[in-house]
Amino acid sequence: MNPTRGILIAGNWKMNHDQAATRAFAQALKSGLSKSMSEKVQALVFPPMLSLEVAKREFAGTRVRVGAQNVHFEEKGAYTGEVSGGMLKEIGITTTLVGHSERRQYFGETDASVKKRAESHLAQGFEVVLCYGETRAEREAGQTEKVLERQLREGLPSEWNARLVLAYEPVWAIGTGLTASPEQAEEAHAFSRKFLVSRYGAENAARTKILYGGSVTPENVHGLLSQPNVDGGLVGGASLKPEGFLALLNSAGSFF
Ligand code: PEP
Repeated sequence: MNPTRGILIAGNWKMNHDQAATRAFAQALKSGLSKSMSEKVQALVFPPMLSLEVAKREFAGTRVRVGAQNVHFEEKGAYTGEVSGGMLKEIGITTTLVGHSERRQYFGETDASVKKRAESHLAQGFEVVLCYGETRAEREAGQTEKVLERQLREGLPSEWNARLVLAYEPVWAIGTGLTASPEQAEEAHAFSRKFLVSRYGAENAARTKILYGGSVTPENVHGLLSQPNVDGGLVGGASLKPEGFLALLNSAGSFF
């Protein structure tokens, strides 16, 4: 946590929460959201595509932003099954998620396509949360930094943008209950920050949030956020219940 950058808590709902569940989540969250939550704590949710409009409507007037889990890089055309940034902007979506390991693993996304999406979405005015991280085999083979370096070199946009957020998500920690220790997370985040300095310069690197993702819970989030280069969390399972998401926000709020 760095007081200048603040903290972002983002919930990735994946393929969970239909419209009714989204409405119920939002209503419960709103009733528990503290009006005095520090401006330094930001909240963001990534519902599935068909729940976006409901989420947007329900969170109107709150500080909870709503993002889309998958957005194409082209603005229109013959891309069956895809959704464009313009269509999402039409319903008020502000943020996109790019490069999640499940998109890389099941849908063939590569560092090159991650870069294409990120650059296109930033150019269209979105905030972009860009995920990267090593697999268990890569960590065990001592390849973590080499893999992160490649993913960042090939996946990051060429130009820095104030709306770019990174999310370091070790694949072995996603949905497994195995969290990186605060020290392991800090090591990867500090490495990433150094890479950002070399790519975008010290000032821009210092302004870029790097979230940690991988089995973050209300119990372990404080230790992770205590690290100087961990600027928030991208949270799957523990973000699905409003009380869990609130607990994460409250823990982030305790730093301010
Ligand atoms: C994720 O989906 O990005 C994630 C980190 O999931 P979980 O928190 O469930 O590990």
